[in-house]
Amino acid sequence: MLKRKWFCCLAVLVLFGSLLAAGIVPVLAQQRTFVTIATGGLAGVYYPLGGGMARLITNAVDYIDASVQSTGASVSNVGLLDRGNVEFALIQNDIGYYAATGTEMFAGRAMPNLRGVAMLYPETIQIVTLAGSGIHSVADLAGRSVAVGAAGSGTEANARQILAAYGLTYEDISPDYLSFAEAASNLRDRNVDAAFLTAGFPTAAVTDLATSLDIRVLDVSEEAFAALTENYPFYTRVTIPEDTYRNMDGDVSTVAVMAMLATHADVDADIVYESTKAIFDNLSDLANLHSAGARISLERAQEGQPLELHEGAARYFGQ
Ligand code: GLU
Repeated sequence: MLKRKWFCCLAVLVLFGSLLAAGIVPVLAQQRTFVTIATGGLAGVYYPLGGGMARLITNAVDYIDASVQSTGASVSNVGLLDRGNVEFALIQNDIGYYAATGTEMFAGRAMPNLRGVAMLYPETIQIVTLAGSGIHSVADLAGRSVAVGAAGSGTEANARQILAAYGLTYEDISPDYLSFAEAASNLRDRNVDAAFLTAGFPTAAVTDLATSLDIRVLDVSEEAFAALTENYPFYTRVTIPEDTYRNMDGDVSTVAVMAMLATHADVDADIVYESTKAIFDNLSDLANLHSAGARISLERAQEGQPLELHEGAARYFGQ
């Protein structure tokens, strides 16, 4: 009798085990899904804001564990998405468009499966030098050492395009491919004369530099803006108010692109829907994290979307 009871127990266990293995008892067997958001360098805005998004997703969705990856930023990030290395990425709208359409730096290698989730906040092209550098305009960068952004960044593309609007190429300067943190420390040590940063302001790397040294942020002239937008329509006019960094001389008139959250067509629609919902239902958390987070809005989240919208995001935004 006892023997039979044991046999029954064993049979139930074996049966249950095979059902689990076959995925027939999904609730009990539900696995946690790991989701990675590609961001940028540690001293930028993508990294801390992406960290905030990952926390919101992990807290709100019981089956997702989200985390961030630090990268070279936009250009690297679209490649990571395209290769299926990450599920989400923070990127610039201009870079997203060039990647999806196989234009500019992506000529001949279009990534048609990139998908949009949401537009986020303006990323301002900040061209920073030290007050004593003798550099007052982008034209003065000729012959100088310039940090043009990390290899694989959107910043680097913006630097190249803005220099071109002033009739300059990398032949006319000495370009250094540095992250924001590296650019700031090289400016401080006078190893470079100026640095380009494309990021939401205030950008931590510039704030830190400005606390110990007098900096100057350069304008992008009206003429250069006209030349720039003729070839690259994603640039808009933006003012950096004079109280953004310590000891600025006045407001700075420069240009901006937009940060956006992107994904890949193969990422599951429920994951994209739940993640989008976790972020956009809790925008005040991101606003507390960084002032760029405060510029993200539900109403404007699809304004100027350059990519085909992912099915899961379309479900959330009711598109
Ligand atoms: N927009 C920058 C880039 O793609 C990164 C900005 C950031 O890290 O906040 O180069």
